[in-house]
Amino acid sequence: KEPFTNINPVGIKEQYSIGVKLGTPKQTNKKTSGGFAVVRKCKEKSTNIMYALKIINKKNLDKGDLVTLEKEVSIMRQVHHDNIVKLHNVFDSKSKMCLVLDLLEGGELFDRIIDHGHFTEKNAAQCFGQLIIALEYLHERQIVHRDLKPENLLFVNKCKNKDVFVEGEWNMKLIDFGLAGSLKSGPLKTPCGTPNYVAPEILRKENMVPRWICGPLVLCGFPPFYDENEDMTRLYRQIKEARYDMPSPHWDGVSDIAKDLVKKLLITDPAKRLTSSQAASHPWLRGKASDQKMGT
Ligand code: ADP
Ligand code: MG
Repeated sequence: KEPFTNINPVGIKEQYSIGVKLGTPKQTNKKTSGGFAVVRKCKEKSTNIMYALKIINKKNLDKGDLVTLEKEVSIMRQVHHDNIVKLHNVFDSKSKMCLVLDLLEGGELFDRIIDHGHFTEKNAAQCFGQLIIALEYLHERQIVHRDLKPENLLFVNKCKNKDVFVEGEWNMKLIDFGLAGSLKSGPLKTPCGTPNYVAPEILRKENMVPRWICGPLVLCGFPPFYDENEDMTRLYRQIKEARYDMPSPHWDGVSDIAKDLVKKLLITDPAKRLTSSQAASHPWLRGKASDQKMGT
């Protein structure tokens, strides 16, 4: 039986027809892998416009989770940017929160990298360029996303030409503000997100600058830090000390100019790390990325 098919907030079924499930199930962190949310296609009856409906089951959420959910909604209401998914409507009830969002039909960056079979630095630079603009926008508003990863970057459309990786400058959007926070009310206190991607200043419980992981994320699709131990202490120590490597074979095909950008983004001291706008004008994003296939 599919969960959450019984959608109950008042009025939603009058206004929308609810359709098939979206997204690829993945085995990751429970909180960030659709453990509490199901996303479905839906159609607004009055306009015939298609949207995505994120349905969050509140039954299994504790008080803290509910506060986090309210935060997700309030942050989403504040963001209006072409590279960030737009929230169109909210339906709330005792047991479910339903968010009506732009329908992004091009799938996750994660899946596109795999399906495409090859991924060039030019492709990576195109994605990175869009992500950095979105992060700059959030940064200016003191909003931190805290769950940047290839499952949370979606394409608006499937490419008409199968050989093209990214069609257009506004074709990729950041989704899932489930772990986002605002710095306006002071520094964020709890480290959260998928642990391998967490920024060192989050671990130090200081304000964070969100461009930490986007380089490795987009270039090789996995986090720069990794430790098999379930206990996070070692992983977090690695991150704080910026002890990362660029392992073979995944990084073998990555150019020095791309690695230069990544290294500058992984500097632990946020004051010395490149700002988003400095990153955007790095030569790799200014047309120097190559068309050659990367190592993996
Ligand atoms: P969770 O908090 O459970 O990770 P997300 O908001 O990331 O929830 O959504 C889970 C998955 O559902 C995404 O990885 C994506 O595949 C799909 N999805 C989410 N939002 C949309 C959307 N607006 N359009 C299309 N698919 C979406
Ligand atoms: Mg997600």
